[in-house]
Amino acid sequence: MGFQRVLIANRGEIALRILRALRDLGIEAAIVHGREDRMSLPVRLADVAKEIVRSNPLDSYLDIEAVIEAAKEMECDAVHPGYGFLAENATFVRRLEEEGITFIGPNADVITLLGDKIEARAAMEAAGLPTAKGSSEPISDPAVAAALADDIGYPVIIKAAAGGGGIGMQIVEAEQEFEGALKLCQSRARSAFGDDRVFVEKYIQGAQHVEFQVLADGERAIHFGERFCSIQRRHQKLVEEGPWLDDAKRAEIGALVCAGAESVGYKGLATFEFLRDAAGEFYFLEVNPRVQVEHTVTELITGHNLVELGIRVAQGEDLPLTQDDITWRGHAIQCRLNAEDPREFIPSPGRVWDCHFPSGFGVRCDTHAHPGYEMPGCFDSLLAKLLVWGRDRDDAVRRMRTALDETVITGVEHLVPLHRRIMDESDFMAGNITIRYIEEHPDLLG
Ligand code: ADP
Repeated sequence: MGFQRVLIANRGEIALRILRALRDLGIEAAIVHGREDRMSLPVRLADVAKEIVRSNPLDSYLDIEAVIEAAKEMECDAVHPGYGFLAENATFVRRLEEEGITFIGPNADVITLLGDKIEARAAMEAAGLPTAKGSSEPISDPAVAAALADDIGYPVIIKAAAGGGGIGMQIVEAEQEFEGALKLCQSRARSAFGDDRVFVEKYIQGAQHVEFQVLADGERAIHFGERFCSIQRRHQKLVEEGPWLDDAKRAEIGALVCAGAESVGYKGLATFEFLRDAAGEFYFLEVNPRVQVEHTVTELITGHNLVELGIRVAQGEDLPLTQDDITWRGHAIQCRLNAEDPREFIPSPGRVWDCHFPSGFGVRCDTHAHPGYEMPGCFDSLLAKLLVWGRDRDDAVRRMRTALDETVITGVEHLVPLHRRIMDESDFMAGNITIRYIEEHPDLLG
């Protein structure tokens, strides 16, 4: 049976994105929110809303029992977690299962498995995905790490098993660095994730970040191709685009990610992240078991409403599409318009005095911002996602320049000037981009 009312356990642009998909499906939207967001667009547009007041604003979205209480009070059949907050929290998913409320996403066991990078690597290797050489168990002894690094070759990278957000990673170039680097990573992992297990893998030089969009119904999986997300700051994406690969490579890696998703009984939307080295080899990094910020790029080039599909699968529908239904047309680019200064990426909260977001042929802007919007300092700095579609990459780049020039945001600092410079930069235009792009182009920072 279809959902009657779904609770959006999130805020900002993704809350609005989910609300729109629910409306399209004829499902009522409920939302929880903190004090800062009481006047926000998704709260004003929702059919019902409940304020959860907490002294720490993050807790309004992180308090599992309060969110579940709100879902029950507002008589919701399901909860959509969006990204961040409780989206990858297995305890939350288990509690919802106990209450008989559907979680729009995979089950708690799958979330637990994929949340552990060592376990996820092993599971995906078993399903046939290529991984970088590395340890299959946690490592704490520098001698063991050094022996492994001798085998796989320097440089290597130490990563936290429970890692996320680029936290707790350390590159090691030589044996004597292991002792200090291991201790540092373990202590960072312990304070960030409450889990100090770390592992070692080959550091991929000159890498590009390529990820695959997957949708599965618990048995069968299909893929929607790749997104290229190498332009990053502090391991966080700034520009995403697609397609990036040729048809043969897309079909090859696409088949592997579907096999990977099916091997764990995956249900819902997922992103399989890879590094691709200069020789074009792929190395599995991790699975993000949720909708991603950049899902929009894939929507523009495939014409499928991914958020809607994720909700339909959670409702118990079988996949309404086959792999042959998925085709790719043209090229899409997304620029994240964060409220940050475009030099050091320091958040710039405050009142948006005025704003105008572009529109027109081939332009999409997902944003919860409006003139007078008070950008809080306590949450993510994403203010708007500006997307363009073009017949090919050149067409899309030209349209993005026009769209950026048309964008007006006053009152807070933002990344429009940086994106505008990237769109004119010669390596960007030639597609000469690795994950070190921003570091290697300091001139872009103005
Ligand atoms: P997190 O979950 O913390 O985001 P990921 O494993 O997804 O961590 O990696 C995030 C980023 O860290 C990658 O996009 C890449 O820039 C860098 N990275 C991770 N593993 C490697 C590796 N083996 N070699 C080179 N860079 C890496």
